[in-house]
Amino acid sequence: MSQEWDAGRLDSDLEGVGLETLAVRAGQHRSPEAEHSEALYLTSSYVFRTAADAAARFAGEVPGNVYSRYTNPTVRAFEERIAAMEGAEQAVATSTGMSAILSIVMSLCSGGDHVLVSRSVFGSTISLFEKYLKRFGVEVDYVPLSDLDAWSAAFKPNTKLLFVESPSNPLAELVDIAALAEIAHSKGALLAVDNCFCTPALQQPLKLGADIVMHSATKYIDGQGRSMGGVVAGRGELMKEIVGFLRTAGPTLSPFNAWVFLKGLETLSVRMQAHCARAQQLAQWLEQQPGVERVYYAGLPSHPQHELAKRQQSAFGAVVSFEVAGGKEAAWRFIDATRVISITTNLGDTKTTIAHPATTSHGRLSPQERANAGIGDNLIRVAVGLEDVLDLQADLARGLAAL
Ligand SMILES: *Cc1c(COP(=O)(O)O)cnc(C)c1O
Repeated sequence: MSQEWDAGRLDSDLEGVGLETLAVRAGQHRSPEAEHSEALYLTSSYVFRTAADAAARFAGEVPGNVYSRYTNPTVRAFEERIAAMEGAEQAVATSTGMSAILSIVMSLCSGGDHVLVSRSVFGSTISLFEKYLKRFGVEVDYVPLSDLDAWSAAFKPNTKLLFVESPSNPLAELVDIAALAEIAHSKGALLAVDNCFCTPALQQPLKLGADIVMHSATKYIDGQGRSMGGVVAGRGELMKEIVGFLRTAGPTLSPFNAWVFLKGLETLSVRMQAHCARAQQLAQWLEQQPGVERVYYAGLPSHPQHELAKRQQSAFGAVVSFEVAGGKEAAWRFIDATRVISITTNLGDTKTTIAHPATTSHGRLSPQERANAGIGDNLIRVAVGLEDVLDLQADLARGLAAL
């Protein structure tokens, strides 16, 4: 917005409000049209009043937009809203979750730096480190997510960054984020957390001591499986580097997708509560079914990190993974017998999804990498949506009957 426009009471005073209010209202700066919903600025560039105005804006002497690879008002509203919800000084939006991870490493690490990554991260995250970042001299080692002693032991003098996903995909493993942040800082390294599975509605890693938090906004932030995007948030001086990389390299977020995510954030908290309630019910039910050998869900007292999950998260998330009796064929028969649930790897959607991680999301990993990540051939992942939970249970019962 140009510097002479003051929205005054058209914008809400958000001093001291809680997370759910921030999710609905933060980051909105109304234009002179006084629109109630967020305006969608579908424009790649901006005009200037005079040549001198253009020069001043390009030089950064006066605030204002120059080009949408740098800033866009709709994208900025999304960034400010996420920053407010995560308790970050600044957030920056990216074209996908993967480009968020790429931007973190490209801007904070150089060739010769060492990165520690938790073993059980998203499949493409491992491919990014293994196939590409290693080619540019970034050293990478993998550490079992929950084992703090293993983290301490894995440091090298050149360890610059720790990258973790907590809870992890698909096994819902956790790490004590506050304890890991302390270890990282005692060795002069930074901690970045992929907060995709919890969203800021359930967990705020920066408040636990992490330096950087990132999301695939494609998942719960959108919430209805429509748009790809990502976001990185953290302290000002770290964000300056990441923003610089993004503006130059260009994996920035489309204003349209930012607008979809703004709308998604407004219902995030109530959606997450409803997702989690259904997941809890289905996890408890699955645990009692013959044919199910093991259920991975942090809301179950049988989960080895149930107490940590209660302390660190305000709810347990909506991804339930389980191993069925038999191998790949049994898992495929289970999946193929469902009739309501979508067979797809996406998650964070109102529509429940079912997938076989070993041959989809984690199929590009070597058998050894898959074994390290604990992904068995008999593992099935369900990302619980918002349908009637009894219909979902009946659909999973079809799968069980097919075993
Ligand atoms: C999906 C996902 C990503 C990658 O996000 P994209 O938007 O698909 O690029 C990264 N981390 C986790 C945990 C994910 O689930």
